[in-house]
Amino acid sequence: MRIGIGYDVHAFSEGRRLILGGVTIEHARGLAGHSDADVLTHALCDALLGALREGDIGKLFPDTDPIYKDADSLRLLRTVGELVRARGYRIVDADCIVVAQAPKLASYREAMRSNLACALDIKVAQIGIKATTTERLGFVGREEGIGAHAAVLLEDR
Ligand code: MG
Repeated sequence: MRIGIGYDVHAFSEGRRLILGGVTIEHARGLAGHSDADVLTHALCDALLGALREGDIGKLFPDTDPIYKDADSLRLLRTVGELVRARGYRIVDADCIVVAQAPKLASYREAMRSNLACALDIKVAQIGIKATTTERLGFVGREEGIGAHAAVLLEDR
């Protein structure tokens, strides 16, 4: 078995759509980034790559590469899922936390789980997503950005 953890942060930016787990979330601002800045999907990619000992998302999909400009991060996640299978592993379980003061995310949770599970070709039951605020503390609390954590368990196929 292999375990992996991932963490990512993106800053809020005017004039961008807010995309989390491939879902467009209603909010006044989106997140800044070279790709679609889907911080949740990026954390999950990094957890999987960590478990595979394959470096990180920046190594696999460099943000200097124009091909990844405004990239759909679910596509990147799908590629990472293919790499998991190619290395002889399968995903047993994954759990994620989105750390955001705003907006409220509960009503988007099932759509996000469904998108992530679909991109990885696993069951929705194998993906957990929770959301928390930081009680107005720190950069998240000041609504300067959103963070996400992910943990995954892989096993030999
Ligand atoms: Mg990122």
